Amino acid sequence: MVEGVFLNGFVTDTFLLTCENNMLPDTLSLQQLFTVPVADKQHFAEALHQKHATDFLRQDDLRADLELLQNFARRVSRHMAKLEMGKMCVRCAAGSGGGCCSLFMAGETDAVQMLMNMLVGVPIRQVRGDGSECCYLGEKGCLFTFKPIFCLNYNCKSIRDGVSSENVTELERLTGQLLGKQYEVEKKLLELIGRRINR
Ligand code: SF4
Ligand code: SF4
Repeated sequence: MVEGVFLNGFVTDTFLLTCENNMLPDTLSLQQLFTVPVADKQHFAEALHQKHATDFLRQDDLRADLELLQNFARRVSRHMAKLEMGKMCVRCAAGSGGGCCSLFMAGETDAVQMLMNMLVGVPIRQVRGDGSECCYLGEKGCLFTFKPIFCLNYNCKSIRDGVSSENVTELERLTGQLLGKQYEVEKKLLELIGRRINR
């Protein structure tokens, strides 16, 4: 079983059994991919990945979408690096109130977003269990290439005040481009998952 499975919620015995074998539960609704506790979302994503990744990645359009999505994510990262946003966040996280990547925010993840990351080879694991910070916050920042939509869309006051309005506008443009595509890929994956679960 993955370490930290109990980090953010209650899981049932039946669920643990299916998780240990990386299986999906007998009945699963698409809604559960978004609403179960964080550790369960990760297990759903792992089970879906193990069972269906090869099949999903045979679809040319999905592969092309994932490639474009990675490209858009790189553009956002490059712009954020240019603005030295990482340094701002490190300073902020070291302050008394900490940064914004709290354990509460880990709830913004969902199994489809995690699966999307797994499909491009991002290893997903919970790296923290301190009860205060997001369990996916690594030493160098968020572990995800494709972050939860809320996280991606969040530009705090420090960032807005700390960079020029042109740079904020460009950041919003690049983020919007990524979000639009991410939403499209999520819908496509949900359709594929919907056709395969509960059979
Ligand atoms: S995004 Fe803003 S609030 Fe969050 S860690 Fe960075 S500077 Fe702090
Ligand atoms: S950006 Fe990543 S590390 Fe931060 S709260 Fe969101 S998922 Fe967690």
